[in-house]
Amino acid sequence: MTSEMFLPLVKPSEGFEALKERVIAKGFCTYCGACASFCEHIVLKGMPELVDDCSLEYDDVIRCGVNGICYDVCPMTETNDSELEEAFLDGERDAELGIVRKLTAGSCGVQGQDGGIVTSLLLSGMKKSTFDCAIVAARGSGFRAEPIIATSEEEIKDARGTKYVAAPMVSKIGEAIKEGKKKIAIVGTPCEIKATRKLQQAMLKEVEAIDIVAIGLFCLKSFDYDVLSEKTMELLGIELDKAEKVQISRGRYIVRSNGKENSCKVTALVAAYRNNCAYCDDFTARLADISVGSTGSSDGSSTVIIRSKKGEELFNSLDDFVPTDVDREGIISIASFKRGKLKMEGEVPPILSV
Ligand SMILES: Cc1cc2nc3c(=O)[nH]c(=O)nc-3n(C[C@H](O)[C@H](O)[C@H](O)COP(=O)(O)OP(=O)(O)OC[C@H]3O[C@@H](n4cnc5c(N)ncnc54)[C@H](O)[C@@H]3O)c2cc1C
Ligand code: SF4
Ligand code: SF4
Ligand code: SF4
Repeated sequence: MTSEMFLPLVKPSEGFEALKERVIAKGFCTYCGACASFCEHIVLKGMPELVDDCSLEYDDVIRCGVNGICYDVCPMTETNDSELEEAFLDGERDAELGIVRKLTAGSCGVQGQDGGIVTSLLLSGMKKSTFDCAIVAARGSGFRAEPIIATSEEEIKDARGTKYVAAPMVSKIGEAIKEGKKKIAIVGTPCEIKATRKLQQAMLKEVEAIDIVAIGLFCLKSFDYDVLSEKTMELLGIELDKAEKVQISRGRYIVRSNGKENSCKVTALVAAYRNNCAYCDDFTARLADISVGSTGSSDGSSTVIIRSKKGEELFNSLDDFVPTDVDREGIISIASFKRGKLKMEGEVPPILSV
């Protein structure tokens, strides 16, 4: 089981120290939860924290690298995107959108945030046993996102809708595997999908029995829940905790509460943006098997980018997909807007310093 790449740790590792110093303490952490997925020394309390000393004997850890698996799987540390694309995706290279097999848009019968595509893909994959569980973001307390391992149609349907906040989705992969799940779907923002791929590459590539389908969501930014909640009260007079739906569309932040919709410009919420998002240049989840977002399609529809055979098979399993027009230029314009906003001055996370 030991290989040169995965030496057992027999002395205190510097892995977490490096992660803390270069990512967490600098405010670059996305709170994806990947570092804690397989390591019981890391707990997630709004930020990853180390409990006890992380001095591990061989038996305690499957394949902790010399630098620490926690550092290697973090989406904000050095990453070779081309290597990950090569390992997981299969399609034509589109200069703007990444690896693409098919770009389309449309809706399904399920009512979701936009076209209900993500929920329909999950329901279809579960029905056809493409996977035996799905890691989704349920609504936690208020409008927070709580990652869960859904195993039933009801749990998947209950998790519909976007929560515009960070959730440690990737922490659930380790938990699902420990529960004996072998075919896992995960829904996540681009940073969470990147962490998933790094985790697969670092830990799971030799474990062929574990099969992961990564469904990515387009993402411009996520928010700090408490600040967003304060701003929603200040600007819209609404308690976010009690909202029925939150939507960001065409530059507006729209909150539905008591059947009524109020909105303001998203830019009025700048104080609630998570700091780490300023260092992120991936809008369309370029490493996902299949990416879904609202940009590029009409209201009530979703844009879909299929990036791998696995993603294609899952998409083809939908039996109620109704296609609509897709605005490729619209997606490219937002993706390049995000790239143009990328913060490169001052200290940057390791991913941008290579
Ligand atoms: C933080 C965030 C920012 C986004 N920003 C944009 C944007 O700028 N432009 C754009 O086009 N689209 C954006 N999206 C995606 C968009 O809001 C929809 O999720 C997407 O269009 C899918 O719609 P649907 O109807 O197919 O989803 P549904 O069928 O409603 O399913 C949504 C799925 O997303 C999961 N989910 C919800 N919140 C989270 C979360 N925080 N983390 C991980 N999974 C979650 C749910 O569990 C569910 O499985 C964003 C999503 C998130 C989470
Ligand atoms: S993953 Fe490895 S290096 Fe990181 S905290 Fe755990 S034992 Fe330490
Ligand atoms: S792996 Fe995720 S949760 Fe852990 S430090 Fe990196 S960004 Fe934060
Ligand atoms: S903008 Fe980037 S870092 Fe922020 S939540 Fe979205 S994918 Fe993650």
